[in-house]
Amino acid sequence: MTDIFCSIISGEIPADVVFRDEAVIVFKDIRPQAPVHLLVVPIRHMEGIGDADTATLGTLLMAAHRVAHEQGLVDGYRLIVNDGEHGGKIVPHLHIHVLGGKHLGPKLAQDSEVV
Ligand code: AMP
Repeated sequence: MTDIFCSIISGEIPADVVFRDEAVIVFKDIRPQAPVHLLVVPIRHMEGIGDADTATLGTLLMAAHRVAHEQGLVDGYRLIVNDGEHGGKIVPHLHIHVLGGKHLGPKLAQDSEVV
């Protein structure tokens, strides 16, 4: 199974990479939804949270926090993981969105009329 994030990891497709180690790559989202919009992606292909192990999920979360601070998001940030069709996932490779750089507005729970 290969996807666009695998192609970024292998170097076939360019990306604006801000961090990389043996387990995680972090690059800028090509269509940013906030002044800072990063994607935290495991190097090893896995489609979603259900395919990941606890250690990998912890590694991704800690990388998200560390890189958010390195990118100047010291006043806070938001993490989003889309999963499955209803979650709006497009790229079938696990990733955490890191959004920040301004007040991000109401949380989904306050925003949503539909329950
Ligand atoms: P989703 O699968 O809905 O959680 O989101 C996938 C995200 O990947 C979207 O925000 C896209 O803008 C982003 N994206 C897609 N292709 C690229 C790319 N080549 N480089 C950086 N970000 C990308």
